[in-house]
Amino acid sequence: MKKDPDTASAPSLPVILPRSDHTISRNQIDPDSLKVLYRLHRHGFKAYLVGGSVRDLLLGRTPKDFDVGTDATPNQVKKLFRNCFLVGRRFRLAHIRFGRDKVIEVATFRRMARPDDLPEDPADHFLFTENIFGTPEQDAFRRDFTVNALFYDISDFSIIDYVGGLKDLKTRHLRVIGDPLVRFTEDPVRMLRALEFAARLGFSLGERVREGISLRAPLIAEAAPARIREELMELFRHRVGGTVLRNAQAMGLLPHLLAGFEGDDGTFDLLERIDVRTAGGAPVEEHLVLAALFLSRFRRACPPESESTVNDALRIANLVLAPHCGYFRLSHGTRHLARELLVGFVRLVRGLGRRGERRFLKHPMTPQVLEFYGLWAEASGEDMTLVEDWQKALDRSREGETKPAAEQPSRPRRRSRRRRPRRPKPPAS
Ligand code: ATP
Ligand code: MG
Repeated sequence: MKKDPDTASAPSLPVILPRSDHTISRNQIDPDSLKVLYRLHRHGFKAYLVGGSVRDLLLGRTPKDFDVGTDATPNQVKKLFRNCFLVGRRFRLAHIRFGRDKVIEVATFRRMARPDDLPEDPADHFLFTENIFGTPEQDAFRRDFTVNALFYDISDFSIIDYVGGLKDLKTRHLRVIGDPLVRFTEDPVRMLRALEFAARLGFSLGERVREGISLRAPLIAEAAPARIREELMELFRHRVGGTVLRNAQAMGLLPHLLAGFEGDDGTFDLLERIDVRTAGGAPVEEHLVLAALFLSRFRRACPPESESTVNDALRIANLVLAPHCGYFRLSHGTRHLARELLVGFVRLVRGLGRRGERRFLKHPMTPQVLEFYGLWAEASGEDMTLVEDWQKALDRSREGETKPAAEQPSRPRRRSRRRRPRRPKPPAS
């Protein structure tokens, strides 16, 4: 059989890297996760650090979280930890709580379901497909990419690699475990994750993976909107939203991901500015991403330079945002804020000295609108004078608000309305 360079198939034995041959040290591991690993191990269970944390530590990056894999069942885990709660119907997990809001996730090793594992009623399948316990090896093979399937074994501090992930980490290659066509059909969200991890880690995607995405792209339209929405925001939290959506468009995935969405270069450039902003420490909010995604379409429908009224702009912003917001069930609040950014954009482009300027400058969203406009101006190489002028006007308007009354420039007093003479009270009866 021809060996496929872009997919991993089952090697007979795992590669085991002893402590002396790798760089992961216990003081890089979260102390509470270590406690969980040690306690499981002391009670005779296998206890591994799994998933993204092993990958990130080996790459010298800081892991987001430290997930634990074990051969103890969720109920056995619960018995060992007082602070343990079992969660999830489809994928039963143990959550071990530390302090008020820290949670260590402990998952029992699982394997992929075989057709004969499934109950007769297809409505019950979802309860089974991811809930069948398995061996560590099976657990590695059900994961998405080889570099996400490495284990760190607390019993001897070694790294266990069933799928060739260590080699791929070295060559900086994102490889799907198994046949990409099959794995993308099983779970189409993996196509988006492939683009995400390639961008986050700076890894290359093999030809078979690219081909798999091109062929299976339409399937992503069937994925649960809530999951897509979460994965999309995850891209922006990791500051790769612009790059990933640009690549998704190049590979034909984007129109299936976002119901017919076609981005232009300007849109992707703006999304990349948002990623740069996030890299600078600003939290990324969904309404900002939403407004950036639809700005181009909005401007085509409602040219800011034209004399359309604010009411026109509001109506058009609503029309442009409605299908996306409806499909992803975005809250009215998010939709409202995105609309404010789009309509405010039109207001800013028209320049200073228009009617209603004072009210606009006092509006709580105006600083955000100005930031949004500034990002667009940077992305499109636009002259920044307008941004600077608005910023000055905004600063002046704020200064006016904070100055004590005595320092405020005296405004001509309005003439007070003349009081009407009071009517005489009716005599008490
Ligand atoms: P990070 O948390 O840094 O984003 P991660 O690798 O931990 O990266 P998660 O989304 O937290 O990613 O998932 C944890 C692990 O679960 C992954 O490393 C992978 O092994 C597995 N996994 C997640 N999603 C899938 C999927 N759709 N198909 C197969 N395995 C998956
Ligand atoms: Mg994770």
